[in-house]
Amino acid sequence: MPKLYNQWVSVVRWEKTTRPFLRTTEFYWQEGHTAHATAEEAKVETRRMLDVYADFFRDYLAIPVIKGQKTENEKFAGAVDTYTIEAMMHDGKALQSATSHYFGDGFARAFDIQYSDRNNQLQYVHQTSWGLSTRSIGAIIMVHGDDSGLVLPPRVAPVQVVVIPIAAHKPGVLEKAQQIQSQLSASFRVKLDSSDKMPGWKFSEYEMKGVPLRLELGPRDLQQNQCVAVRRDSGEKMVLSLDNLAADVAVLLDQVHDGLYQKAQGSLASRIRDAADKNSLSDLIANKPGFVKAMWCGDAACEQQIKEETGATARCIPFEQETVAETCVCCGRPAHHMVIWGKAY
Ligand SMILES: [Zn+2]
Repeated sequence: MPKLYNQWVSVVRWEKTTRPFLRTTEFYWQEGHTAHATAEEAKVETRRMLDVYADFFRDYLAIPVIKGQKTENEKFAGAVDTYTIEAMMHDGKALQSATSHYFGDGFARAFDIQYSDRNNQLQYVHQTSWGLSTRSIGAIIMVHGDDSGLVLPPRVAPVQVVVIPIAAHKPGVLEKAQQIQSQLSASFRVKLDSSDKMPGWKFSEYEMKGVPLRLELGPRDLQQNQCVAVRRDSGEKMVLSLDNLAADVAVLLDQVHDGLYQKAQGSLASRIRDAADKNSLSDLIANKPGFVKAMWCGDAACEQQIKEETGATARCIPFEQETVAETCVCCGRPAHHMVIWGKAY
């Protein structure tokens, strides 16, 4: 003890309506399970794994998330506690992006999962389970994408840098482009497009495919020992010396990551609003895409009433609590929690 099991598997669910990447009949996910000697250890593991997912979203996908606990009504059936990370898509809707559950010894008692303790006594284990799915690909598309297409965060982009020769028939251009590709390939995932399509066509193509950084190299650049770099996230263009290219590309890719994260963070922060009473909650949900912070008494009846009247669900009770009003947004009784409400995928 403890025991850790992890697997990547495909899952089938008979969804009434499907949506690419977010809700499909068959999808791929990672699920982990642990069994511990004590409840305390299992609780620590449940929270630790939620942090692993939140850090992964921030550090690899450049997506900010809100960490919190699910209400009784929204938690996983059979769990004592369900924790979640909630992300906001570009249209203001929530995407539950990963969950982590503390099971207590409920499943252990149901399935008779026991271990021998130090005194050779049989004890029930305390379990956790947590998962992340290919839905996170949907999150990348819907958080970062723009009118020109995909915008992929550099740390997970299959192609991080595309090299495009300009006037490739001119002496030395293609050779230099190949040399750049081979140099950069030691540290990055690099593609050279030496096809005979027009450069402008290629620019649009790799923008649409979300490649984080484009390097253009023409005869004049060659003479000046430089290339032109274009960031996918901001469209910003700059001239880079070929002498220090790998180091400059590393810095630029980090800047693209940070730029994407900050933009997503700004978009999230600007679309979380407070509501003190049910009318303003309903009004915000109906008219302002985004999340609403409101106080809750803890009664499932209030949660249900808000869900029915507004179409929004309690996304989570954030770990970082605030007091946005003194009383429950629904019934006016004393409030115990601040809840994030929103429409969800
Ligand atoms: Zn209430």
